[in-house]
Amino acid sequence: MPSYKLARRLAQLEPSATAAMNGRVQQLRAEGVNVISFSVGEPDFDTPDPIKEAAIAAIHANHTHYTTTGGTAELRKAVAQRVTADQGITYGVAQITTTTGAKEGLYLAFQALCDEGDEVIIPAPYWVSYVEQVRLAGATPITPLTSEATGFKLTPEQLRDLLTPNTRVVVLNSPSNPTGSVYSAAELRALADVLRDSSAIILADEIYDAISYVEYARWLRAAPEMADRTLIINGVAKAYAMTGWRVGYVAGPQPIITAIKDIQGHTSTHTASISQYAALAAYTPSAAIDQSVSSMAAAFRRRRDLILELLAEIPGVSCNVPDGAFYVFPNVTGLLNRPLKDGIVCTTSDELNNHLLDQAHIACVSGEAFGAPGYLRLSYATSEQAITEGMQRFRNSLG
Ligand code: PMP
Ligand code: GLU
Repeated sequence: MPSYKLARRLAQLEPSATAAMNGRVQQLRAEGVNVISFSVGEPDFDTPDPIKEAAIAAIHANHTHYTTTGGTAELRKAVAQRVTADQGITYGVAQITTTTGAKEGLYLAFQALCDEGDEVIIPAPYWVSYVEQVRLAGATPITPLTSEATGFKLTPEQLRDLLTPNTRVVVLNSPSNPTGSVYSAAELRALADVLRDSSAIILADEIYDAISYVEYARWLRAAPEMADRTLIINGVAKAYAMTGWRVGYVAGPQPIITAIKDIQGHTSTHTASISQYAALAAYTPSAAIDQSVSSMAAAFRRRRDLILELLAEIPGVSCNVPDGAFYVFPNVTGLLNRPLKDGIVCTTSDELNNHLLDQAHIACVSGEAFGAPGYLRLSYATSEQAITEGMQRFRNSLG
């Protein structure tokens, strides 16, 4: 194979660990291995019927052409109304752009905001793509490690110590991937008080907002005065079981949204027209769709309780109780540096993760990928039967 000179900015790029683990699972399954996957974070439910029907109708109506950059006016209006209702602050259509998944929304936000030398504060454990996207934008990720003792939440003191004149963006993700932590209104307020003296933009990633087992506190409800320097990231993937449709949005100050749309005009232009019609149905008030969203959230809650109960029975594993999303993030340091089944010794959570895949055929993602060695992330967006059998395999593989 000839070698190719690739762009220098790729030198530090790590492939997505979540996507890579998903690839390994698919490959093992193709080889006939019965793998139970707790790896990729996506709802196992089907997209609600009214949303699918709206997409089919859009095909029949020949909505198959280019739309406006950043999405149809109709979709952006529906999103603006949703954001206004969520945040209690009026958002106009010009303050919204829709994107190819929230992932693209985040990427474009960093591209629009960051220059070389800028710092972006990303509390660890963090979702894998933030750090890589910030690096691709030429900026420097600053990743303070939060602790189990604070429920993996950034403290005002940590934030105060890290803010510099170069801080360009602060990422707040609640409910969090990978820890499932949910910030309370008081915790958000305390962070807002620290941010008052900086000029940083706050990027509030609320993609798991529909999956919260405690009262969900939104950033702008807690800190409305921050609206003119907040970008809200959200999308249909998790709440509506629509990962494959690839629709997300960014809501924020018009000049930043215009900048993002200018980049979109030269890149994707917009997400698929049919997906936009599906998202329009999702964001148009409907009792039937609301009912589907809350029954999926209720199922996630039952699964969280089940997986926590089963993890608690595994010696050497301890786990914080997550208040939202569909991840548990157990501490597995008690399983390291001691013989497991067949005398195997793992010295890192990454090695343990490989051991679990090879020996127990269960796929998790190691804490290393999220900037927090010593932990594993398990997505419990899978059946109760798979959770029960998976946890049994986990236990049996320890000897
Ligand atoms: N933010 C977080 C915290 C996520 O976990 C995900 C899931 N991949 C995304 C953003 C991106 O979501 P989407 O599928 O809409 O691109
Ligand atoms: N957000 C999900 C996860 O963390 C989906 C995969 C991805 O986009 O990284 O597993």
